[in-house]
Amino acid sequence: MPKSAALLSCVVPVYNEEAVIASFLKALNATLQTLGYAYEILVIDDGSTDNTPQVIEEIRKEIPLRYLRFSRNFGKEKALSAGLDFARGKAVILLDADFQHPLELLSQFIKEWEAGYDMVYAVRTDRRGESFIKRCCAKTFYQLTSKMNRIHIPPNAGDFRLLDQKIVRAIQQLPERNRFMKGLYSWVGFKQKAVEFEVQPRAHGTSQWHFYSLLDLAITGITSFTAFPLRMIALGGIGVASFAIIYAAWIIVSTLLFGIKTPGWATIVTTITFFGGLQLFALGVVGEYIGRVFDEVKGRPHYIIDEALSFDDTQA
Ligand code: UDP
Ligand code: MG
Repeated sequence: MPKSAALLSCVVPVYNEEAVIASFLKALNATLQTLGYAYEILVIDDGSTDNTPQVIEEIRKEIPLRYLRFSRNFGKEKALSAGLDFARGKAVILLDADFQHPLELLSQFIKEWEAGYDMVYAVRTDRRGESFIKRCCAKTFYQLTSKMNRIHIPPNAGDFRLLDQKIVRAIQQLPERNRFMKGLYSWVGFKQKAVEFEVQPRAHGTSQWHFYSLLDLAITGITSFTAFPLRMIALGGIGVASFAIIYAAWIIVSTLLFGIKTPGWATIVTTITFFGGLQLFALGVVGEYIGRVFDEVKGRPHYIIDEALSFDDTQA
């Protein structure tokens, strides 16, 4: 089948976007009409507490939409997973509802997909709109993960991307609840292509991401892909123990040679608190992994659907 006869799916995760969602969906619909493909738009409402559902109800009269609402806020990653679960297209495009992902890029995505790439992802050329601290954290995170993981997560690539159906199927086979999507996209492999873009300022409101949720995402990114931190703790333990043995030998020798000097309590207190802290840190790292194992073994569904419109096959 020629690709142009194929269906395209657009997945839009939405959380409290009443101000922009109507204009965004209109703009998206207009752009999709120019691409020459049959298409469907899936709006995944991640438990919005504002008027987003009502606004979408209105816009559904104008634009054919498939609309799914979660029973509460499960997070963007879960919303994207739901989108992938229900998308029927030969290719699935993921994009944010706040106009930060330029719609002009869609035609470029399609071009690369038609040229044979299975995944086309957008890479932001600069992160100027973000605070210095956020940029530093992002940079450190990408450096850390690329050193620790065996897979390469391209820096500055987000969820804005096109996935061929075979990538969608591959991602669906990954059962984990701690879903670090950026890592999963890389993990599955296939032929991937980067396209550059300049991230737009948010059309309205502020990002739903806060320091704690970003930190949580970063820790998920590390712990769900590598046991490297655990190994570092073991190696660190060996290092510290070796140092202690050498130091003990030195104390014995110096006592024999120079006699017993009055020991300094400051040294002892510092050492005890330092190693107390180190042990708590190590426990915390182990705890992170145990916490994630705990989440996985409970085997709870990834999300709960409250309402599904234009879904005849709601079986998540
Ligand atoms: N979003 C979501 N669930 C959330 C937070 C955000 O579905 O818990 C959606 C949001 O409506 C938007 C997209 O995910 O369409 C990106 O969110 P945001 O702009 O807050 O994140 P950023 O652009 O800073 O990555
Ligand atoms: Mg945004």
